[in-house]
Amino acid sequence: MLKYKADWRSLAYMVVTTALLIVQWSFGFYWALFVPSLFLGIAVAVMAHNHNHVPMWKANTMNVLTDYWLTLFYGFPAFAWIPTHNRNHHALNNREGDFTITYRVSEKNNIFTLTSYPPISSYFQQMPIRDYLRDLWVRNRTKFYQSIFQYVALAVFVGVALLIDWRKALLFIVIPQQVALFSILVFNYVQHVHADEESDYNHSRNFVGPMLNIMLFNNGFHTAHHLRANTHWSETPEAHAKIDHLIVDELKERSFWGYIFRAYFLALVFPRFETKSMRLARLAAQQQQSQSQPIIQASTVQASAAAASAVSVPASPNSL
Ligand SMILES: [Zn+2]
Repeated sequence: MLKYKADWRSLAYMVVTTALLIVQWSFGFYWALFVPSLFLGIAVAVMAHNHNHVPMWKANTMNVLTDYWLTLFYGFPAFAWIPTHNRNHHALNNREGDFTITYRVSEKNNIFTLTSYPPISSYFQQMPIRDYLRDLWVRNRTKFYQSIFQYVALAVFVGVALLIDWRKALLFIVIPQQVALFSILVFNYVQHVHADEESDYNHSRNFVGPMLNIMLFNNGFHTAHHLRANTHWSETPEAHAKIDHLIVDELKERSFWGYIFRAYFLALVFPRFETKSMRLARLAAQQQQSQSQPIIQASTVQASAAAASAVSVPASPNSL
């Protein structure tokens, strides 16, 4: 049985995603089917994220089977969310040491940093995955084999499909998988870039309009998600409403596509549409403060030295 009734929506997405693959494989390419399958690739990535935080089923076997389904359609083993996302990203929240850090290469936020982020971030996420598997080998051999078998299942699924018909396999399996992997990293980037990772409530950019949240399981409410990652996706709008007033307006975007168009395309021509880095603003303020502190300290030392000498001069004859 499902833990949350709302996951009927996730199940419906899984059924339609599977059906679309079968129909496209059987009847060939139609834009009217291909475009929805790409959108569902994005939805699969979001579902993989959600299932990783709050497994859908009460029964563990169903959760393990769901992990396998997600692995095949997401294009990467589902277990990898644990070391890269739960244990690393959620623990560090875009601070130094987060393997998905948004300012690794550049502090800028533009079309080039956005599009180069997914491959760079993917590369750096391989190390925690390897370390996690090494740890499982020592601590939990069953889980180790379950995780390795996700790689095997994925390789067999894609490999057999390529052998049967490589064109169909690329179009209907590999491309939607790559869309899923690319888009989830784009989401991570836009949700954190130029926010302030040290702030309690301004560490994430939120997309609060209805369109994205209805279609993609409330994925826009990212601050609330970071504050309590085990809140089920169906409850994040409520969690966001409670903290909405604590988040600055610049980090509450109504439309995802509106933000993409403004920050990455309009900003190319009109710099006023560029986002301002709250992280850099904080660092600059901290630097200014630390530079002014020694001056204050020095002047305080001078003042107290002067005061001390003023007291000690008349005292000195008595001490002789
Ligand atoms: Zn998360």
